[in-house]
This record gives sequence, C-alpha cells and structure tokens, in this order.
Amino acid sequence: MKVTIDPKCKPCPGVDNILHLAEDVLARNEIVYTVGDLIHNKREIDRLVDMGLEKVSAEFICNYKDDPSKADPYFLIRAHGEAPELIEAARKAKMIILDGTCPIVKHSQDIIDQHARDGWRILIAGKHQHAEVVGLMGYTHGNGAVVSNIKEASSVELESRSLLLAQTTIDPLFYSKIRKKITSRITGLKVIDSTCRFIGNRCKDVENFAQLNDAVIMLGGTNSSNCRLLFKTLRAVNNNSQHIESGASLDYNLLNDAESVGITGGASTPTWQIEELKNFLESTPVPEEDNSPEGLKNTKGGNILWRIWKNQSKTA
Ligand code: SF4
Repeated sequence: MKVTIDPKCKPCPGVDNILHLAEDVLARNEIVYTVGDLIHNKREIDRLVDMGLEKVSAEFICNYKDDPSKADPYFLIRAHGEAPELIEAARKAKMIILDGTCPIVKHSQDIIDQHARDGWRILIAGKHQHAEVVGLMGYTHGNGAVVSNIKEASSVELESRSLLLAQTTIDPLFYSKIRKKITSRITGLKVIDSTCRFIGNRCKDVENFAQLNDAVIMLGGTNSSNCRLLFKTLRAVNNNSQHIESGASLDYNLLNDAESVGITGGASTPTWQIEELKNFLESTPVPEEDNSPEGLKNTKGGNILWRIWKNQSKTA
C-alpha cells in the first residue's frame, strides 16, 4: 500500500502565524492566557498547553485583577479574533496584547465596524457560537444578526441599508443560498465575499488529490469548519474517505482494499500530525511474540498491519 501526503496540504497563513506567536512567547516562560481554542485542533492545543498556554474564559479576563508584584501576563488573541470589549478588558487589566487575529478576519472586522458606525445593519452568515462569528458580532455596535440557515435568512430583521458578510470558512454554496434568500426580500443589499480564498483553493486541491488515491484520510479537528468543508468536498469525489483527529480513530475497513492511501489536512492541521500519521501507516510494528494473522488483527492498526505484514512476507 502506497501512502502519499497531499503536496498542497499545509496550515493556512493565519494558523501558521498564531502558532509561531504562541511558541515564541511560551518559549520565554511568560504567562499566556487565551480564550477558548487558539485553533480548532485539540492535539495541537494540548501541545501548547503542555508548553504553558493557559486557556481561560472571557469572564476570567473581564474579572482579572492586576497584581503589580508579578510580571504582566500576555493575552493572545486567537486567529478567529475576539470582540473589542474583551480586548479592552484585557488591556484594562494590564495584560500585554498579542494579536493573532488572522488578517482576513481582521479585514471583515474593519468592514463591519466601519459600516456599523455609519448606521448599517450587519448580517453575518455563519454559525451562531463560532468564535469568529462571536468576535465579528462585537463590531456591529449592537445592530447585527447571525444567519445560520435559510429559515433565519427568511425572517432576519432587515433595514434599508443592510450589509451581508460571511464567516470566512463557510461553504461558498451555502453563502450563495443565504445571499439569494435575503436579496429576494430587500433591494440594494450590500454583499461582501469575505470567505477565505485559502479554503476555496484548498477545496479544489483536495478534490484533485482525492481522485488520485483509492482511499483518502482527512486529518484535522472534527470541530473545525474548514476541515469539515474540505472533507465534504473530497468525499463527493471519493466515497472511500474518512475524517479523523488522529490515527487512533482510523476506520481500517475503509483502507482494506486500497492500494493507495492519501493523507490530507485542513487549514488548522499542523504538518507534524500529517507526518506522524504517514509514519504510523507505513510502520510495521509486527509483535514478535504473536505475528500470526489473528495476533496481528488484534494489535493496534488491526487489518491494515496484517496486510502490510502479508505483503512483506510475499516479497521477503
Ligand atoms: S482559514 Fe483563512 S481566514 Fe481562517 S485563519 Fe486561515 S487564512 Fe485566516
């Protein structure tokens, strides 16, 4: 079985930037707070927590009391951004702001802020509780609404000057449906295409990559919007595919008849995890004490290790 890594798979610039920011400041043994998940990848977050990153709640930041006898802590703003009130609270608590907001998200925040100040109604197509959307809502000056489905697009309150934007990682097709529905209710709706080009391009890449392999593995957070969108895209062309967070949850049945297996990842999948999975698939941890077919099938890796062993036995 041949295992290939998608050559175009890499973390997006926003994720790459925040990981570097986090690693740099943690390497200096500073106190670093962040609200929620820095990125949607649990194993990477765990690694940073092991390095000292402290995940706290928004309430913690708002209620934080400065202690002059201690060094000022850092507040690391995640790639999805934060609401301005929270950043202001961190500043008031004398935290050092380390802004990891992705420039593409920042651009949406600026557009929203500008229009809301000029009296526009702001509509954001996306998920209600998504961190980026919660942050964007903070820039609407109280005159914004989230539209997460067609039903909401049919009933959301509109004004003569309404602006529609999208969470950067939503499916462009879904965004188009929301836009059409709202446009049918109002004339002169101002629409901004704020979806992330990186994700749009990656959709085309994974579509091509999925066609080149018998089976495809999407490695990345199952809570990640971009991973889910990429998986949906690749699955449409290769049904023999799966979305997992680590090798521990592999469905070996989907790999059993595959001569070629492709591994790809989302915008928030670090390269080390992709390589780790490739090594895992290619390794042959045949237990010396029990390398019978039955024994192999019972080991971690199950049938796939059995098949690797079988092929090696043939060529030995
Ligand atoms: S997916 Fe796009 S918008 Fe989101 S952090 Fe990455 S580059 Fe920025």
